[in-house]
Amino acid sequence: MASFWAVVRSRMGTRVVLAALLATILPLVLAGALLVRNAAQSSQAVSDAQLGASAESFAHGLEARLAAANALALAVVAERSSPTATELQAAVAPARIFDRVVIDSLSPDGSSNGVGALAAAREPGRVFITAPAGPNATAYFLVSANWLWREQSESTGADASTAVFDGAGNLLRDTGRHTPELASMLVAQTFAMAQSSTASAHPVAWHADGNAWSGVVVALSVPQNANRSSRWQVIQYRHAGGLPSGVWDQLTGLGAIGVLSLLLALWLGGRVAARHLLPLLELHNALRRLGVHAFSPLRAADADEVSDVVTAFNETGARLDARLRAQETLSEIDQLLLGATDLEPALDAILSRVHEVTRCASVGIALLDRDSPHLGRVIVAANGHAALPVSRVEFDADMYEHLLGSNEALTIARCEDLRHSFLAPLREHGAEFFWVWPVHANGRLTAVLAVGFTEPPSPDPTIAENGAKFAARLAFAVSKTARDEHLYRQAHFDALTALPNRLLFRDRLAQELANANETRARGALLYIDLDHFKKVNDTVGHAAGDQLLTIVAQRLRASVKEGDTVARLGGDEFTVILRNVADPEGAALVAERIVEALNMPVNIAGRDHFVAASIGMTLFPDDGKTIEELLHNADSAMYRAKEIGRGRAVFFDRKLMMSRLNTTQSGLYRALRRREFSLLYQPQFNMADGKLCGLEALLRWNTPRDGTRQPNEFIPAAEASGLIVDIGGWVLEAACAQLALWREQNIAPGRLAINVSAQQLKFVEFPRNVRRTLDKYGIPPEMLEIEITESVFADEAAGQAMAQLAATGVRLALDDFGTGYSSLNYLRRYPIQVVKIDRSFIEDISINPASGTLAATIITMAHALGKVVVAEGVETEEQMTFLRERRCDFAQGFYLAHPQPVTSITEMLQSQHGRREPGIEAIRQTG
Ligand code: C2E
Ligand code: CA
Ligand code: CA
Repeated sequence: MASFWAVVRSRMGTRVVLAALLATILPLVLAGALLVRNAAQSSQAVSDAQLGASAESFAHGLEARLAAANALALAVVAERSSPTATELQAAVAPARIFDRVVIDSLSPDGSSNGVGALAAAREPGRVFITAPAGPNATAYFLVSANWLWREQSESTGADASTAVFDGAGNLLRDTGRHTPELASMLVAQTFAMAQSSTASAHPVAWHADGNAWSGVVVALSVPQNANRSSRWQVIQYRHAGGLPSGVWDQLTGLGAIGVLSLLLALWLGGRVAARHLLPLLELHNALRRLGVHAFSPLRAADADEVSDVVTAFNETGARLDARLRAQETLSEIDQLLLGATDLEPALDAILSRVHEVTRCASVGIALLDRDSPHLGRVIVAANGHAALPVSRVEFDADMYEHLLGSNEALTIARCEDLRHSFLAPLREHGAEFFWVWPVHANGRLTAVLAVGFTEPPSPDPTIAENGAKFAARLAFAVSKTARDEHLYRQAHFDALTALPNRLLFRDRLAQELANANETRARGALLYIDLDHFKKVNDTVGHAAGDQLLTIVAQRLRASVKEGDTVARLGGDEFTVILRNVADPEGAALVAERIVEALNMPVNIAGRDHFVAASIGMTLFPDDGKTIEELLHNADSAMYRAKEIGRGRAVFFDRKLMMSRLNTTQSGLYRALRRREFSLLYQPQFNMADGKLCGLEALLRWNTPRDGTRQPNEFIPAAEASGLIVDIGGWVLEAACAQLALWREQNIAPGRLAINVSAQQLKFVEFPRNVRRTLDKYGIPPEMLEIEITESVFADEAAGQAMAQLAATGVRLALDDFGTGYSSLNYLRRYPIQVVKIDRSFIEDISINPASGTLAATIITMAHALGKVVVAEGVETEEQMTFLRERRCDFAQGFYLAHPQPVTSITEMLQSQHGRREPGIEAIRQTG
């Protein structure tokens, strides 16, 4: 019932019901109107005829009565000669025709004595008959009104009235009760008409008093001796247009029928609407649900056309729903694939979803091995089985080729054990009919997706379509995980040695630290730096260096237990994380093992190389609780290992570290690594022509915290730790690289001098290093000047080195001449071309005659030995004058130019090159 009202209230329901109502009411109303109209018409006709007949009969009756009354009166009078009124009255009394008889006798004087009689006769509407009653007397027979007008009402209808006029238009009688106006109207209308008409009976109609009236007029003749003789008119009339009473009954009946049909129409209309509309409303709701992916089939409808629509909706909806579901499933998988890093969850997702979408008995994914593609493993999902084992399969060669060469889905209805070996795991679960999709990635058959059915599957195109989509996802998943794995390896492992890189190392260290903090287990971090690896790299090339690093990596791995981490941080730096270290000795033992292993020569291309390692050790959580702290400590310990002689392992010592933290030494090694060193260049000028003739490279340490440091602040420490060898190597490389650049620009100075400390010179590889560096940058040897101090003469090895250097063709300069064991003998014995007079002599040549003499002597002696003389630390004009007078060759000092960075030196070289002649201003003034 509720749904019925829902239907009725709906717009369409309202319309159907309204239409039904209209269809029933309209004809009924028309029928009623017709009925009324017909009834009115026919009743008019009937009443006119009736009136006519009754008026005529009334007129005839009246005529007959008047005649009878006349005859009686004449007869009574005729019987008597001079009757009295009383006699006459008595005579007529039995007939009851007359009310009274009066006699009017004319007196001889002509006056009438019958005044009273006449008065009676003159009553309005009174009818009387006169008859002679003797000479000069007339009897008046007053006709009884009762008798005269009787029966008139019976002959007409109850609603009709009768009126009678005499020939003069006097109203004799009117049974209608009317206002005088109406009466006079009646007379006026009918009388005029009756006069003009010749017909015995004729209808009349008029309007008065706001009513329509109609009637029939009949004329009658009246005896001669009646008063009001001549023609009378009888009219019977009534209101026109009244409906006969039966009509109302009919109309009431019609109304009842109307109400009944109305109800029927409402009910039927509602029923019809409900039958068609309810399914439509349901369809509407179902369509909405379909829009939000909540498809539910509709129950079949009764109405034929609607039932067709419902059937069509159910079919389309089911198809659409299946498609949407598949789409959702696929996009869920896509989501999963995008996020997944492992193949397994992706495979699981695909397996279970293929199952849902295809409603198959079992699904299998065969993954082909990367190395031997004919082999693979099959992962299966089957109805009602959770976590099925993975089986190994070997692909039939023919089948493999077929799948490799095809992108199309395959349907298999007849399985052969060998040919379809990969389907065996699915057949075990009852499947006999299969859809199979080959999965290709990077031009390789990487997988096969198989769906098995127990019955021949319907040739549903959506299975093929969806299967292909799943296969595409599978291809993506396989290639993505392969790529992810590759990317992961790339991001986390060192490409050369395959050891974990810095990123993974930090990960592992964080893990071990957390573990140690939790379980109180101890671990150790070793920081390993190869000694002189750069040398190997430089002497035998990068390929050999790489080979060496690979071997070192192998040796490191071999020196630790499974579960320990060996990582390469970059270059020749390695780290080892040792787990579960019982005591410091345990860690020391491993470090010793590593030192020993790395002390063994490495043979590359038939040549033995010796690379030792310096190792810094630190224990955690004892020595540090954060990665940064630990790394810093291990690094410091390693640096100390380098300091105290390389090729050894040293434990981090907090106290020691604290005491050294402020010394310049700590951090020199790191400074070298971090390229915190730079070179300034100080020009040397030719005294003769004032031209810039050479540059001296001077080292600076640009510390991140304390700003620039001067050489005297850190060179002693570098020499003490032996690091001066590495730092000096850097200076040589950097200076030569810069010189090469200037040479490229064609603005190179005649010479470039570098300072080399005694330790560096003693290092056996030094001369070879120099030669190789010159070769590397294509610099003529004579352009490089190596400044040494007199301290080198204390060592035999230095002498050899000088000879080798001289043989190479580089120039040697004796720096700070006059401050050490200055011996002219050395000048003679060693291949030194340049003597640099120490600043202390130049300082007071002009004020201290002894200094002046000494300087002049040095110049003279040096010249005598064929050496070139350079004066250092020239700060004043006087000094310049003095030196020029003493024929010093070159000068260097703040008076001429300060040590400067590359940019300003480059500018200077450019302008000098452009000007050619002469040198800088200072020289010109004094030259
Ligand atoms: P040095 O070889 O005698 O270098 C000359 C020093 O005198 C430089 O000091 C320079 O700035 C300074 N100087 C130049 N002209 C004047 C002047 O007119 N008046 C004064 N008062 N000083 C002047 P710097 O650069 O501080 O170098 C100090 C020393 O550090 C150098 O003395 C040298 O022995 C050593 N050194 C500098 N660079 C290197 C290097 O690359 N390797 C080695 N082993 N030692 C270096
Ligand atoms: Ca110097
Ligand atoms: Ca010097």
